[in-house]
Amino acid sequence: MLLLAAAPARAAPPRDTAPVTLDGAASSVIAEGRPGKPRPLLIELRLNRSAPWRVALLADPVRLVVDLLAPGSGAGDAEVIPGAAEIVPGLRWGPAGPGRMRVVVPLPAPMAVTAATMTDAAPGKTARLAVRLAPVAADLFQPQGHGSALPQLWDLPQPAAVAPPSVRRPGPLRVTLDPGHGGRDPGAVSGNITEAAMMLQVAREVQAALQQRGVEVTLTRPDDRFMPLERRMTAARGAGADAFISLHADALPAGAAAGAAVFTWTREADDRAARELAARHDRDDLLGGMDLAGQDDEVTGVLMDIAQTDTLPRSQNLAQFVLSELALGRIAIRKRPVKGAAFSVLKSPDIPSVLIETGFLSDSADRANLTDPVWRAELSGAIARAVVAWAEDDKLRDPLLRR
Ligand SMILES: [Zn+2]
Repeated sequence: MLLLAAAPARAAPPRDTAPVTLDGAASSVIAEGRPGKPRPLLIELRLNRSAPWRVALLADPVRLVVDLLAPGSGAGDAEVIPGAAEIVPGLRWGPAGPGRMRVVVPLPAPMAVTAATMTDAAPGKTARLAVRLAPVAADLFQPQGHGSALPQLWDLPQPAAVAPPSVRRPGPLRVTLDPGHGGRDPGAVSGNITEAAMMLQVAREVQAALQQRGVEVTLTRPDDRFMPLERRMTAARGAGADAFISLHADALPAGAAAGAAVFTWTREADDRAARELAARHDRDDLLGGMDLAGQDDEVTGVLMDIAQTDTLPRSQNLAQFVLSELALGRIAIRKRPVKGAAFSVLKSPDIPSVLIETGFLSDSADRANLTDPVWRAELSGAIARAVVAWAEDDKLRDPLLRR
């Protein structure tokens, strides 16, 4: 316990509703190399706080667009950012609709994003969003989508260097449960049962089972409401969650294997069912009212892979604990039950995340189980035991605590 208390606490993530302001004087635009021909650029934006973000390149005219998922406060242009007036005179920023802030940077030549990162604000400091760009031949320029289409996914800020995410805070274990779907997205439907309502029920039962074991639990949605995927991850970060568990009971094509399965995130889904499920979930989000569509940005995807290298083994370990307890609880499990899937909801860079398919509403045996309170009590007990056992194991593996 002394060891735990000695570990630095992670700063509480900022609230989503606080406005983001850009500090122009502290920001900068730098062109590397000699003037005369297109040069690599480093654009460094200083913000009062971090927020989910994304970058995109658009054509006609060639420009970089940086979006922040937070209300923007104040506006400005290249005149107030050192270096910007000479290199990217058309730069400007300001609020872009409710809950959004946008920075637009018309570029002097076709370019590619070679790196993009956001770092959380350390206490008393600003958050930093850095984008590196390199000139490319006009025929190699790759705008994302057409017109105003932007990547659908938001990236989450990297925690500030002073507060490494792998350090366990003192205090009780915190878990965020994510009942899948909700609101205008019912998920799978079978008769009068919707996946959204069933998973809210399961989440409340798992919550009670975890609370009995001293775990603090938050839900990504408290009732039957629509929640975009990235909001679910942001909610987990906002709650300071040690683990994120998404709960589903989807429909699969006839003949597909039934029973429970546990998924962790990978860039490439490793089987057809996982791919179909991932496509379904991401499409649900699109259909559910996201106003922007497009491909996940290649560069930010790579960065996400890097961030995941620490977290993914912890997620996979959590998945194994869940499966073991499900088996002990006599919950039917599919063949090859731990899978990788490209579910956006599992892409938190620093929170171990799993998605549990508790069963499939399209399968009559699974449906009978899910509507049986006794079976569900086995399920929620098994998940709660698994999370607590995993947390103990994870603590022992924490390199900082092992010293
Ligand atoms: Zn689902």
